[in-house]
Amino acid sequence: MTTSPITITVEQAARAWESRLHDPIGPIVGFRNWRIFRTGPAARELSSPYLPVSWAEPVMRAECRRWCSPEDLLREPHAAPHPDCRCGIRAYRTPTGDFSQVDYRGVSGIVTLWGRIEIDRGEMRAELARVEALGVYRRWNRRQQDAVREVASKLGADIVDLHDLDMAAADYGGPPPPALPADPRARGIRDRFAALFT
Ligand SMILES: [Zn+2]
Repeated sequence: MTTSPITITVEQAARAWESRLHDPIGPIVGFRNWRIFRTGPAARELSSPYLPVSWAEPVMRAECRRWCSPEDLLREPHAAPHPDCRCGIRAYRTPTGDFSQVDYRGVSGIVTLWGRIEIDRGEMRAELARVEALGVYRRWNRRQQDAVREVASKLGADIVDLHDLDMAAADYGGPPPPALPADPRARGIRDRFAALFT
């Protein structure tokens, strides 16, 4: 795998939060999935579903780590997300609640995204993401419900009914700005947004 979010320090998180307040687009809302493992080093933490990455703080920052092949080593390092790379913190534009109904350790929730953001159809890749709310499924066993509530409380995230994720999302932000010009020179939606005014 080529990319992963990293946990940032409290001070970096504060600075990241500050950057969000001055973002002309405002927070963009997205949906994503995690797992809460019951054993192992990341037990009882919110973990990326496919990577060994714990979301131990409410705010995560993306970092490109594509050092997997010799070709990758020859590439220039770049800020994540990059349009020609797969890096960035992934989120979807529509709720992903099915995941947590099928996977017994699965959790679905709402994130806000800011900083650099790349959008490709239903998927977004962001530089910064904050966990805003986690969905609880009424039909889970008590153990999973408790695990999700415990993680939410640790991260300062809200709890919503799994089926209300879509409705609840509006409390945290909006969709990406519509009709962004498809400027091939633009790098990410920030540049395309700026292009609207130039
Ligand atoms: Zn990259």
